[in-house]
Amino acid sequence: MGFKSDIEIAQEATPQDIREIAKKLGLTEDDLDLYGKYKAKVDYNLLKKTTGKKARLILTTAINPTPAGEGKTTTTIGVADGLSRIGKNTLVALREPSLGPVFGVKGGAAGGGYAQVVPMEDINLHFTGDFHAIGAANNLLAAMLDNHIKQGNELKIDAKKITWRRCIDMNDRQLRNVVDGLGGSGDGVVREDGFDITVASEVMAAFCLASDISDLKARLGRIIVGYSVAGEPITAEQLKANGAMAALLKDALKPNLVQTLEGTPAFIHGGPFANIAHGCNSVIATRMAMHFADYVVTEGGFGADLGAEKFLDIKCRMAGLKPDAVIIVATVRALKYNGGVAKADLNNENLEALKAGLPNLLKHVENITQVFKLPAVVAINEFPLDTEAELALVKEECQKLGVNVAISQVWAKGGEGGEELAKEVVRLIDESEGTFEYCYELDMPIKAKIEAIATRIYGADGVDFTPTAAKEIERLTSLGFDKVPICMAKTQYSLTDDQTKLGRPTGFRITVRQVNISAGAGFIVALTGEIMKMPGLPKVPAAEKIDVDENGVIAGLF
Ligand code: ADP
Ligand code: MG
Repeated sequence: MGFKSDIEIAQEATPQDIREIAKKLGLTEDDLDLYGKYKAKVDYNLLKKTTGKKARLILTTAINPTPAGEGKTTTTIGVADGLSRIGKNTLVALREPSLGPVFGVKGGAAGGGYAQVVPMEDINLHFTGDFHAIGAANNLLAAMLDNHIKQGNELKIDAKKITWRRCIDMNDRQLRNVVDGLGGSGDGVVREDGFDITVASEVMAAFCLASDISDLKARLGRIIVGYSVAGEPITAEQLKANGAMAALLKDALKPNLVQTLEGTPAFIHGGPFANIAHGCNSVIATRMAMHFADYVVTEGGFGADLGAEKFLDIKCRMAGLKPDAVIIVATVRALKYNGGVAKADLNNENLEALKAGLPNLLKHVENITQVFKLPAVVAINEFPLDTEAELALVKEECQKLGVNVAISQVWAKGGEGGEELAKEVVRLIDESEGTFEYCYELDMPIKAKIEAIATRIYGADGVDFTPTAAKEIERLTSLGFDKVPICMAKTQYSLTDDQTKLGRPTGFRITVRQVNISAGAGFIVALTGEIMKMPGLPKVPAAEKIDVDENGVIAGLF
């Protein structure tokens, strides 16, 4: 189409020495663990010193997306550059990409066009090794668990009731279900097992919600790996694994500092799945960002029904964070998709479908402003094939309904294209009354919490629990695990649990098939529909186009 690819734009940039970026935050070389010239880890002990900053926290979220993503990361980076341009001391806090999507369908997750973080090749491929450390901690626990059984099984672990799985950061459906422990009497104990992708591991979620290394160790200790013959939960602490697991993670837990194409500092740290887990970067990175900057922009995964709800009800509650404003990314493409247009036809102008998709956007705006009581602005992320008439229509319709709206051109123009949005965000924050409410309270019964999310956020009439789910809820309540937040596992495409129901559906119920406790993460996962913890590769994986030349220069990442 004549556009430069993300990697071409990134490779043309001249990044600054990371020590110069750190200086903008008042950090010296002593505060950094350098990983080459352009990456550094920042010591979390710096959180203990006060800086006197009272940063504003801005969340970027989106309407129900198309399968390609709506540009939340791109917008998050671009508006941060926009804020920098209008003179605000700004930091962006993002998730680390997983190798699964990089080699699968979606590609990288370091922004796009002129709103990217660099070095994008490193960020997308291994980065500073955090995910490998998380995988190692997960697999150490698995090894110690099976070894315990092999060495006499003092805890009387029921091999049929093991819930802990091994993990690897790769889309590899071949490992989804395996039988391991094969061989002779000197080998392991034969059992059915399986691998999840590392970003779906509870270690990842616990890592991202931990407030410091001691809290991380305690959370890892609470992880339930399975049940005894008598039905008692068996924890990582009982296996004496959590100390060594935390030791493996001590460097990984330090936030990674990089920069945007325009030199705005960025923390990229942690990356839990947004379906089975809560889908945002680490609490430590967000806190540290707020420690060193005046404005912090961060992102929640998928649409606002999943990403924003979990960011607000789980992460903000656990970390004591109070956001100041929410950016809801909408695209003409996703609005048309929600208005019923097939993926293949999204490039054609279609004002009728665009109008038909708007109620989806409005529902998300209402949720943010009326349920969570936060100020919101819609950012229309402009794509090259959007027509003038389409962009004008969305803007007009939002204005008619009194919804704040700004066009964002960060993909095409970087920070300059994000200035309008940045100014609107600052205005919103300055004029807001500083209210914030959760969707539900922690002391409500498990079912009532799930019902609150389904009715208030999704617009459902109610929730049906399968007998299995109802029984597990009773059991978790009797075990005392009921006073924690709920992590909904639901399709990202629809406000319902049926991915084909787009727009703003009414007159529907949500079915909760199963609930699980993630005691280390500190939440209950409520599963609706089939949720994949180990994705597979598509027929033509993105990996087929990725290459490296004789100079070590990478091509084909997007
Ligand atoms: P999300 O964070 O919502 O999943 P991303 O920001 O990662 O979305 O963007 C998804 C893909 O869409 C990326 O490849 C990005 O380059 C591309 N993209 C985002 N915004 C635009 C835009 N305005 N025009 C063209 N492509 C875009
Ligand atoms: Mg993203």
